[in-house]
Amino acid sequence: MNIKILKKYFPLKRYGQNFLINNSIINNIIEKINPNIEQTLVEIGPGLAALTKPMCQILEELIVIEIDSNLLFLLKQELFYSKLIVFFQDALTFDYTKLFYKKNQLIRIFGNLPYNISTSLILFLFKHIAVIKDMNFMLQKEVAERLTASPGSKSYGRLSIIAQYYCSIKILLNVTPENFWPVPKVHSMFVNLTPHHHYPYFVYDVNFLSLVTNKAFQNRRKILRHSLKDLFSEIILIKLDINPRLRAENISIFQYCQLANYLYKKILKK
Ligand code: SAM
Repeated sequence: MNIKILKKYFPLKRYGQNFLINNSIINNIIEKINPNIEQTLVEIGPGLAALTKPMCQILEELIVIEIDSNLLFLLKQELFYSKLIVFFQDALTFDYTKLFYKKNQLIRIFGNLPYNISTSLILFLFKHIAVIKDMNFMLQKEVAERLTASPGSKSYGRLSIIAQYYCSIKILLNVTPENFWPVPKVHSMFVNLTPHHHYPYFVYDVNFLSLVTNKAFQNRRKILRHSLKDLFSEIILIKLDINPRLRAENISIFQYCQLANYLYKKILKK
């Protein structure tokens, strides 16, 4: 398409449109995803088809979810369009579980995500975790670091705990800003999230894990004795072998699960 026309309609900042423009990175991403014709693949935000086109060279069918109707109009002009099943929809409202039932197969989700929704989208996808085979996403470096962070690091927080509870997470590629148009202000990382087959952590109810981590990280600088005082007395923290003088970032995922389970049992007893 004529670059002048392209620039007239795109990119839309509100949809986080930073398009991939380096073929060698694109090929690398496809290689890392390693799609198979038998699998159900879903792309979030096909945009100008940087990943969609090479994917369609491998697959017979690709499901795409795109919010921008102008981009869908452009996709329609492409030869590979016949291979696409298109949802003109917000990926944050898509029913991934319904798709699983339709395909009768776990789904693989990928995309160069719009950075403004990437965290909420990942949290939303965890609600559909049972129907997901894996997820491969281009993310802002800081989000990738939060996803993979260990206790004691500055990036460790709610997202690290919830994400690592559900998935094993690997950073696959570092991608510098000049590989996108327009050039973003941030660095990016391509990340794989694979749901655990056997969960390394046990919680009775993940909502309690969410509640405890939310409280603990509301103010990272507070020590647990203060930040968790509405949920746990100091004596209970000590009983659970958790030092009440530590900060939220010093507690392991296992310990957060212990706290969540304690609360769950306490509430059940009432
Ligand atoms: N895949 C293309 C690429 O790599 O060049 C485009 C990636 S661009 C970073 C993000 C894409 O997601 C855009 O096409 C944008 O319109 C789309 N998008 C933004 N918000 C969305 C949403 N909530 N649901 C679905 N698609 C969305």
